[in-house]
Amino acid sequence: MAERVLELLASGQASTRTELAGLLAAAPSTISFTVSQLLALGLVAEEGTVTSTGGRPRKALRLGGSDGFAVAAELGGRHAHIGVVLAGGGLTDVSTVPFATDEGPEAALPGLAATLETLAEQHGRHVLKGVGLSLPGPVDLASGVVTLPSRMPGWNRFPVRAWLEDRFGVPAAIENDANCMAVGEHIVQPAERRQSIMVKAGTAIGAGVIADGRLYRGGSGVAGEITHVRVEAAHDIPCSCGNTGCLETVASGAALVRILRERGLGVTSTEDVVRLASDADPETTRAVRQAGRYLGMVLAANVNFFNPDAVYLGGILSTLEPFVAAVRSQLYEGCHPLVTEHLAIERASLGADAGLVGAGQFALQRALAEALRAVTGNHHP
Ligand SMILES: [Zn+2]
Repeated sequence: MAERVLELLASGQASTRTELAGLLAAAPSTISFTVSQLLALGLVAEEGTVTSTGGRPRKALRLGGSDGFAVAAELGGRHAHIGVVLAGGGLTDVSTVPFATDEGPEAALPGLAATLETLAEQHGRHVLKGVGLSLPGPVDLASGVVTLPSRMPGWNRFPVRAWLEDRFGVPAAIENDANCMAVGEHIVQPAERRQSIMVKAGTAIGAGVIADGRLYRGGSGVAGEITHVRVEAAHDIPCSCGNTGCLETVASGAALVRILRERGLGVTSTEDVVRLASDADPETTRAVRQAGRYLGMVLAANVNFFNPDAVYLGGILSTLEPFVAAVRSQLYEGCHPLVTEHLAIERASLGADAGLVGAGQFALQRALAEALRAVTGNHHP
């Protein structure tokens, strides 16, 4: 309970005991007890009042020492998106720096760490709480390593989290990119949207799942792997996973590059595809729309099953209107009316920053969990 209270205060989704009780479906007395413990420990502070509509003014809660922040980075193929994430969900000092993922972690990480260190010093190194990293591959949370990353040669089993904690001396968090985006977007959306699916449609396809207000990782941490759902239209096209006929082979940016090259267009990257589609090239627009339909079909099955409040579309393909429109129409066509009646289908409001906010939030949560463990001596909070 204490951990969930801290998470909601850190993300800015709740600032009163009443809001906490509502979001956690807990009795007011339970919340009051937990908050009083956290106040006594100095992990939470109380200040001023917030006027609720129609009710009496209430004391507002915030994290103790909430001038703390995390530095975060989202790794792409050739670049890293970096920034400072504040307790309460704010994001500042966002920039993009070169990052050569394919040179492997030992060569690529030191330069990135130096850049993040400079950022941390500008914001007060003594209140740096954590470091968060969003990675374009599956992450083993227990050991803090990347596992079988098809797009990250040389990174398999490298202890990324331990490396960061050694380098910075604060808690570090690493997460898969779609999960980071799901959490980042979730915390800036209305708190009533408790269930959502975030789809990252870029060179690859990924999805992150929020259930009951928290990231749902699944049994072995790979919940949301819709990219390897088999679709009939993909026949026997070989996939990066070793199987054939996966969604990825007909709906991802990489697939669009392959498809358009087969049709004689000179594209070499997902960015090229996006450029052509933005210029309304008919062949590219057709292909992009078809990719959106395939994604929408697979999503429809998942939306029927999971009944989320929202589906958020992120990644570079989601900047293309024909793609978003095709996904949306497939969802309306393929889902039960009761499922789509209140379903929001939107581009991620944070756009390209969703993953950064999420990665920073994971780092802040890890720092809070460690602080809680340190003061309570409880090793299973
Ligand atoms: Zn596959």
